[in-house]
Amino acid sequence: MRRASARRPLPARRRARRVLLGSILAIAAGCTPSAPSPAPAPAPAPGPDREAVRRDSIARVRAAFVADSLVRVYAYRDTAKIRVCAGGDVTLGTNLDTSWTKLVARRLKKPVAALPSPDSLVAPLRTLFAGADIALLNVEGAIGEGDPPIAKCAKSASGCYALRMPPSAAHAVRRVSDRVVVANLANNHARDAGPDGLRETVRRLTDAGVLVTGVDTLPTLVETARGDTLAILGFATSGAPNDLRDLESVRRHVARAVAGNRRVIVTMHLGAEGAKAQRTLDSTERYLDVTRGNPVAFADAAAGAGADLVIGHGPHVLRAVEWRGRSLVLYSLGNLVTYGPFSHREPMRRGAVACATVDGRGAVSAARLYPTVQRAPGTVRTDRSRRALTLVDSLSKLDFPKSGARVLKDGRLVRR
Ligand SMILES: [Zn+2]
Repeated sequence: MRRASARRPLPARRRARRVLLGSILAIAAGCTPSAPSPAPAPAPAPGPDREAVRRDSIARVRAAFVADSLVRVYAYRDTAKIRVCAGGDVTLGTNLDTSWTKLVARRLKKPVAALPSPDSLVAPLRTLFAGADIALLNVEGAIGEGDPPIAKCAKSASGCYALRMPPSAAHAVRRVSDRVVVANLANNHARDAGPDGLRETVRRLTDAGVLVTGVDTLPTLVETARGDTLAILGFATSGAPNDLRDLESVRRHVARAVAGNRRVIVTMHLGAEGAKAQRTLDSTERYLDVTRGNPVAFADAAAGAGADLVIGHGPHVLRAVEWRGRSLVLYSLGNLVTYGPFSHREPMRRGAVACATVDGRGAVSAARLYPTVQRAPGTVRTDRSRRALTLVDSLSKLDFPKSGARVLKDGRLVRR
């Protein structure tokens, strides 16, 4: 569905125009819009009555102009530009399994804290999100405490990661920005402490003042301090209801969000993981014997249904950026801050915060990447080498020779 046809003109504006048109016709016909007709030809009205009708018509036209102007003022307000900044995976430690610290301490030849203060882990991000009206993060894991009723990983299991951050992580996520902060939970770790753990995660984030998206198919409506609104939907490969492998339902849910909102952002958590998963192909990806979606087909469905920004994560590496029609698609923002049992080798240690401005017509402008780098076991800082920019630029050119974004030296994303 094209965006233009999905957006209906404001009904109030239409009403005002109708009043205005009716009043103009009334002047032309010399009667009020509600005058009964046809009636037997009346005798010409005496002068004073005709004058009264004329004055009344002028008053109606003036009123219609005022109403139309007011509608224009509100319409203008709703076309204000909203600056959105998004990051990739955020895990601020895990209290479900701290055995990884021994291994990492041996490798780094120094003691490693299992659970440092989450606030200290996100502190370096604040300058990157400083210009954002809305900060959007993928919270990769549950948040909570206590023994979950069922352990996700067996004690002897290798390659199984159970991620649950301590309760203070919810407040740390909130403090990433002074403005609106949105946490996406459409990913493969938000349920690591079970369904009750997911509920606890939503409650803790909400109590901390963070908006949550990605736990269902309803758009999360974000209102900025200026009163403008934007809708965010999250999809992953964790099963119903917001399974991104079901493209028909993706189109339906995104189109519904677009019909009711002028700006729509969609997140996708998908794809294979690791150094071999940097390329974006138009094919279904598999990882650990699970189908992890087709990124290009998903982006096509979401952007085709009218999403302005499609923001990806899941592969734990950076991927290409593409202008798909009028929409901007960031296939993977990589790891932002992943403290715990993650690889922080190249290229997994590189990430990016992506910022873009979305106006009331859904037009995307001033898109830019801010490069980040992590040091094991998961401390993030701005990357002075700007390696992420080079990576994303070359991946975009390789995977999308025509529509891939060019990344300029200062991080600006432009059309090729
Ligand atoms: Zn993931």
